[in-house]
Amino acid sequence: MIYLDNAASTALSPAALEAMLPWMTEQYGNPSSLHRAGQRAAQAVSEARAQTAKILHARRGMVCFTSGGTEADALALSTAAAWGERHGKRHIVSAAFEHHAVLRGLEHLAEKGFSVTFLSPGPSGRIRAEQVADAIRDDTGLVSLMAANNETGILQPAAEVGALCRERGILFHTDAVQAVGHIPVDAEALGADLLSLSAHKFHGPKGVGALLCREDLPVVPLLPGGGQERGRRSGTENVPGIVGLAAALLQADTSMEADMARTAALRDRLAEAVSRIPGVHLTGMDQPRLPGILHLCVEGVRRDTLLLLLDQAGICASAGSACSAGALEPSHVLRSMDVPEPLSMGALRSSLSPANTEAEIDTTAEILSDLIHRLKN
Ligand code: PLP
Repeated sequence: MIYLDNAASTALSPAALEAMLPWMTEQYGNPSSLHRAGQRAAQAVSEARAQTAKILHARRGMVCFTSGGTEADALALSTAAAWGERHGKRHIVSAAFEHHAVLRGLEHLAEKGFSVTFLSPGPSGRIRAEQVADAIRDDTGLVSLMAANNETGILQPAAEVGALCRERGILFHTDAVQAVGHIPVDAEALGADLLSLSAHKFHGPKGVGALLCREDLPVVPLLPGGGQERGRRSGTENVPGIVGLAAALLQADTSMEADMARTAALRDRLAEAVSRIPGVHLTGMDQPRLPGILHLCVEGVRRDTLLLLLDQAGICASAGSACSAGALEPSHVLRSMDVPEPLSMGALRSSLSPANTEAEIDTTAEILSDLIHRLKN
């Protein structure tokens, strides 16, 4: 199997597994218990919190562990919406290419009377900070802009937009689920009041993530209950998951420079090879992108057919977001970039990890070339 779907999920790193194992076997105390088994677990969560905060340049009190990126996004939006209501600011600026975890949450807020402006980037795939500035109104309370797009890998000007929001006294949320663990992420430098991340995107376990939330911002919990995570997210902490998240993040941070160089070289090797296939259009080549994602569209080929044949050949890739895999709809991300619909129906996303090899990339390019040729004839 050649696995090129790391933007959907990644292999658990051995370091994360090793860190998690004791908390799934002999160390099973509940962090809220006052006895030694509980306190050992509480200590592990506290160390994971400190490590996560340090790596992301946040204060430890900002880290609220969640069940993943979707919950972190939802918690960010509920918190920002409550802040907006309190301050009479019921307008939100976001982008049409956000992940569904943000888009659906914003639709829900729109039903509750918020007004939302969705910016479209056009063919570049990258929102300009001036577009955000132009969309801001007196009643704007939140800008939510992802750090990197999960389909195209195109980086968004989060730091510029963060600075703009800070200047205007507007909350800034960034969904950094695809960025954290892959490129340097500094919550302070980004000016993010709210930042979402998810462990399984950077070789941590599934079902755990975090929202970094400015400490003076009252979080509106989605899950009221026993008051864990300082009342921001009730429920017994996922101790193995939290420990695994921090271990995976540390590993990613330690090897980041080398990993970025390696995945970018693999991505460029694949881009070079597939750019020679007639009818292949590479996406966002002139834009700053994540090192590990190569997105393309193939003229006259259907993405579902291509993915099926690739899978039969042992290659795991995707058309875009895993959440909408199987959907017959064209991608909302490509639509926001004005990609003509017939072309967008031939979309393919390869997302790499440093564990991929040159041989895998070459095999993929050859198979892809053969398949496209076959499908067109
Ligand atoms: N945001 C982005 C940009 C993503 O790519 C994803 C996952 O695909 C999510 C949010 C949701 O994260 P999770 O799968 O941890 O709920």
